[in-house]
Amino acid sequence: MADRYLRFTGTAPGRFLTRRLGLPQPAELIRWSPERASLQGEVLHLTAGKPAPTAVGHPSAVVLDATGVRDVEGLAGVHAALHPVVRSVAASGRIVVLGAPLDAADHHQAAAQQALEGFTRSLGKEIGRGRTVNLVRLTDRAAAESTLRFLLSPKSAYVSGQVIEVTEGSGPTDIDGERPLAGRTALVTGAARGIGAAVAETLARDGAHVVVLDVPQAEAEARELARRLGGSALALDITAADAGERIAAELADGIDVLVHNAGITRDRRLVNMPADRWSSVLDVNLASVLRTTDALFAAKAINENGRIIATASIAGLAGNAGQTNYGASKAGVVGLVHSLAPRALAEHGVTVNAVAPGFIETKMTAAVPLFIREAGRRMNSLAQGGLPIDVAETTAWLAHPASGAVNGQVVRVCGQSLLGA
Ligand code: NAD
Repeated sequence: MADRYLRFTGTAPGRFLTRRLGLPQPAELIRWSPERASLQGEVLHLTAGKPAPTAVGHPSAVVLDATGVRDVEGLAGVHAALHPVVRSVAASGRIVVLGAPLDAADHHQAAAQQALEGFTRSLGKEIGRGRTVNLVRLTDRAAAESTLRFLLSPKSAYVSGQVIEVTEGSGPTDIDGERPLAGRTALVTGAARGIGAAVAETLARDGAHVVVLDVPQAEAEARELARRLGGSALALDITAADAGERIAAELADGIDVLVHNAGITRDRRLVNMPADRWSSVLDVNLASVLRTTDALFAAKAINENGRIIATASIAGLAGNAGQTNYGASKAGVVGLVHSLAPRALAEHGVTVNAVAPGFIETKMTAAVPLFIREAGRRMNSLAQGGLPIDVAETTAWLAHPASGAVNGQVVRVCGQSLLGA
């Protein structure tokens, strides 16, 4: 469903009128394309507590190193660094704050580092013009490279107000920059349409052999997409009791990237919700994710240095009226990620993360009643809905062979939705 308001505000009369009426003014976001692989303009590197350069021009991005901030006095350095430059950051530009892990033995340091979170989220809500602000907590700068590349690129257009923790760890070094997933197999569930189809296309762009899995009723679409991507299709209902075993049997060389994307909604308030609407959503969105993951690990079908990316939702983080079933299932995905991630990495060298989309323009959200849909689109810092490609790019970053130090994270792709962000 096209966002006509966004198109209108992109015209001169639309800009004039919406400004006069004090209505939201969504900026046209710059997204990745082969012609626009990076943001135009310099990246300004600042360090909290060190003098800021005097002439800055219009940087496309600012990276502020605040890892050394250990107390409230140190936070003054954050203000001193960004206050003079924030106005000049280009439209659709990026601010990335680098923080340090919270020190359990030093409550002054922990307070100051936690303060960066509130700072980042608040700046994201006020900065406007399609600009995003994110915080990366890191211990090892080299391990954070794939994350910084993503956040400083057009690929992260709809990711704002996020706190991403990157631990230590080294990934493979012989990675093809253009096709980082070359030679790898990616399985994407629910990939015949919507977000899943965009994920399949993006992982194929990055070099993966993609297996497009969807229900038998969507087999024709799945086959057509697989043909276009040079991948393969698998017609399978992911809720089948033996789905994991069948996938393992089909993919004899194992899976390098597993994207649990298939999902459904069956909305009703709890008072009106029959048990079958509850159980179908829990089964597709959560039970099948647990079941297939367990079966694939048991069959040793997930390769070393593999990636699992599950799909949560902001409804699972903030809750949503009419979605007790869906909210429960998506919060369950978060629980799964937090519990499994450390073990999967220690035992199998596999990372487990989740994307949590906000309002994304797909058939699922086109079915939402008009006023709720319009509210969903505007109630975020970028005042617009995201596109399937925004979730797909975030998934591709988590799937990247060099993202091995990103584990157990739930990354919202929601334009910093007012719901739970
Ligand atoms: P969509 O309805 O457009 O596509 C979902 C796909 O999953 C369909 O192709 C469907 O056939 C497939 N599917 C459903 N049940 C399946 C099953 N049992 N086995 C195999 N495939 C199955 O949905 P979408 O908007 O692209 O959403 C994709 C994911 O993102 C879902 O997990 C959804 O909950 C999540 N999400 C979407 C939004 C949004 O705004 N669109 C927001 C938050 C989260």
